[in-house]
Amino acid sequence: MQAPTGILEIDLDALAGNYRRLTEAAAGAEVAPAVKADAYGLGLEPVVRTLAAAGAQRFFVANLAEGLALRRHLPEADCLVLNGPLPGEERDYIAERLVPVLNTLEQIELWGAAARAAGRALPAVLHLDSGINRLGLTPAEAARLAAEPALLRDLSVELVMSHLACSDEPAHPGNAAQLARFRAAADALPGPAGTAPRSLAASCGVFLGESYRLQVVRPGYALYGGNPTAGRPNPMRPVVRLQARVLQARRVDPPAGVGYGATHRVERPARLVTLAIGYADGLFRALSNRGRLVIDGQALPIVGRISMDLTVVDASALPAERLLPGGFAEILGPGQDIEALATAAGTIGYEVLTALGRRHRRVYRGGPDGVVSGH
Ligand SMILES: *Cc1c(COP(=O)(O)O)cnc(C)c1O
Repeated sequence: MQAPTGILEIDLDALAGNYRRLTEAAAGAEVAPAVKADAYGLGLEPVVRTLAAAGAQRFFVANLAEGLALRRHLPEADCLVLNGPLPGEERDYIAERLVPVLNTLEQIELWGAAARAAGRALPAVLHLDSGINRLGLTPAEAARLAAEPALLRDLSVELVMSHLACSDEPAHPGNAAQLARFRAAADALPGPAGTAPRSLAASCGVFLGESYRLQVVRPGYALYGGNPTAGRPNPMRPVVRLQARVLQARRVDPPAGVGYGATHRVERPARLVTLAIGYADGLFRALSNRGRLVIDGQALPIVGRISMDLTVVDASALPAERLLPGGFAEILGPGQDIEALATAAGTIGYEVLTALGRRHRRVYRGGPDGVVSGH
C-alpha cells in the first residue's frame, strides 16, 4: 500500500470516557448521543459500536439514510431521526423501526396516517420550537394539537423535545426563556404527550444546570472532544488527532513569494516545509496566512494560500535536521485543539470535525471488540 499522507486517529476509549463523563454530568438524565453526519465525521460504525458498548441505547441521526445506516450497525438500538419523514419514507421508517421526530403538523398527519394504515400506534418524538425558529412546531401549531387531540391519537409519543439557540452562552437570557416556553408548551400537550419524557439539552445544555437536563440529553460535539463549556477549560477528553506528512523542506531566499497569488512574501532567508494536506482534506482555505500547524511541539505559521492538496509552513524556527521528508506535522492533537484551529479559521469546531475529509488514513484506537480498526 502507498504510504499514507494524512493520518486521522480516533481514540475510541476517549470517546467512551466522554460518554461516561456526560452521563455523570447529566446526573440521572439519559444520554442519547447525536451521531448525525457520520458521527460528526468520525465514522458512524466504530462510534456507535463504542457508544452502545458504553451503555447508550437511543441515538439521534439527521435523516432516513443515516437512520438506515445506524440500523445496520445496531440492530437493537432506538434510532431517532431528527428531520422526520418526508412523504413516501414512512414504509422505510416502519420496516426498519426508525422513530421519527415530528417537526410539523404535516409530519404528524403523515405519521398518523401511516399508523392507521399499519393498524397500530406508532412511536414518535414531538419537536416543539421554543425560540430558535429553525425546526419544530411553532407555538401556533402546538396550540392546534391541544385543540385537536385526535391529531396525536394514533401515535405513541415517547419523547417531547426542543432545541436551545444560545446554550454556548450560559448567561444568555434566551436560555431561561426557552426553558420556560418549552415547559409551558409541553405541559399543554393533550393526553399522554403532556407527561411524556422531555429533552432540551445538547452538549452545552448539559452544563447549563440541572433544570435544563430534564429526562434525556442529546450531546454530540462534547462526545467527540469538543468543549461544551465555551471559554472555560474543556472537561472532555480529546478524541481526534490529525497529522500530515512532510513532503519537502527547502530554503528560500528573498525576494520570493509563496503559493498561489504569492500572497506571502519571504523577507529574510526562510526554511519552508510543504505538507501533504489541503483544503480538500478539511484544512480550510481561510487558514491561509493565518493558521498554525505543529512540528515537534513547535507551532509554525501557515504561509501563502492553502491549496487543494498542499500547505506550506514557515519552519525557520526549527533546525533543518528535524524537518525530514516523511515526518509529520500535527493539525489537531495535543499541540492544537479543535477550538484553536476553528477560531483561526473563523468557524466552529463542529465544522472542523465534519469537514475532515475522506482522504486520510483512519486509525481507530481502543474501543470494544469488533470495532473496525481502520480503513
Ligand atoms: C446536532 C443536534 C444535537 C447535538 O448537538 P451538540 O451541540 O453537537 O451536542 C442535539 N439536538 C439537535 C436537535 C441537534 O440538531
